[in-house]
Formats: sequence, C-alpha cells, structure tokens
Amino acid sequence: MRLSKIKLAGFKSFVDPTTIPFPSNRVCVVGPNGCGKSNVIDAVRWVMGESSAKNLRGGAMTDVIFNGSGGRKPVEQATVELWFEEVTIPPYQENGELAIKRLLTRDGDSQYFINNERCRRKDITDLFLGTGLGPRSYAIVEQGMISRFIEAKPDELRVFLEEAAGISKYKERRKETEQR
Ligand code: ATP
Ligand code: MG
Repeated sequence: MRLSKIKLAGFKSFVDPTTIPFPSNRVCVVGPNGCGKSNVIDAVRWVMGESSAKNLRGGAMTDVIFNGSGGRKPVEQATVELWFEEVTIPPYQENGELAIKRLLTRDGDSQYFINNERCRRKDITDLFLGTGLGPRSYAIVEQGMISRFIEAKPDELRVFLEEAAGISKYKERRKETEQR
C-alpha cells in the first residue's frame, strides 16, 4: 500500500486546490524556508485524525484554515484528501483504491470521509491502526522525535512497539469490548 497523492484546498498556505503527486516510493519535498514543506506533513497528520492543534503548530484547530496573506482573503474551509494505491486494507483492497478526506469549517465542524462517504473519525483511525501510519505513529518522524524515543519511559516506548508489532488494533478492540 502506498500514498499516491495528496489533495489540499484551503489548508494552511495551500489556499488554491493543489494536488501533490507521489509518483514513486522515494519523494523529496524541497523549497525555501516558509514555503509550506512542513504544512504538507501537517496535512497528512490532520487528515488521519490529529485532534491537537499544538501538534499541528497552531493555537486552535481552525488555525489550519487558510487565514489570508498578501492580497488573498481568508477562506471558510479546509480540506485534505489522501489517496492510496495498492491498498491492502480489507475491504478496500478489492478495487485497490482508498481515499480518505477531512473537511473543517470555520464554525469548527469537522467531517471525515472514506471514498467520499461520510464516516466517523474513529473509522479512519481504526483503518490505519497497526499500519504504522496514523496521526502520532512512527511513520512520521519529525524534529525532536528521536530524542523523545531515547528519553521515553518504558510505557511510552511500549506504545510504539505495539504499533510496530501490529497488536495495537487488537488492544484497542479489547478495550472497546470491555467498555461495553
Ligand atoms: P522551513 O524550511 O522553515 O521548515 P517550511 O517549508 O516547512 O519551512 P511551513 O512551516 O510548512 O514551511 O510553512 C509556513 C508557512 O505557512 C508560513 O508562511 C505561514 O504563514 C503559512 N501558514 C501556516 N498556516 C497558515 C494559515 N492558516 N493560513 C495561511 N498561511 C499559513
Ligand atoms: Mg519546516
């Protein structure tokens, strides 16, 4: 399974609808300071369900919506869509395509979609549990994360190990069953 493209509109500095293709397994994003490289990674984390504005380098969640610059007025909503190909997650492996989308409006209404069908945030987080990809998973290694790994307490380290071993989704399901 691989990420094939990201579509953004109204998200941080990406005010106009923008498609970023990922044509191969190794892609570099380069550009001058402040051009929006880290915003691309924030977009990935956001669409996977990140609920902490601080982790997206903002004060409030609506800070991810383009808030104007130069001659451009702020916009009313932000959307990010991730497209995957060679999908291995059932039942989406059947036609091989999976697109997940999140939309946020200025009044704080957050909506999630799988293949354009409305779903819950949990449906998206469940989808990627155990794959290593997720809003806070190890697939995204950001600045300072290596030292956080090194300094992590055993309990915190265990969360990463369980995700890497693919057992976090079973733990999550057990927790849900126990709560019922
Ligand atoms: P560096 O090389 O310094 O790490 P970068 O390419 O990673 O830079 P980003 O941090 O992705 O840059 O982008 C920062 C830019 O995004 C800033 O110019 C900032 O004004 C803009 N930006 C962030 N949030 C918004 C928003 N809500 N509306 C408009 N612009 C935004
Ligand atoms: Mg950056």
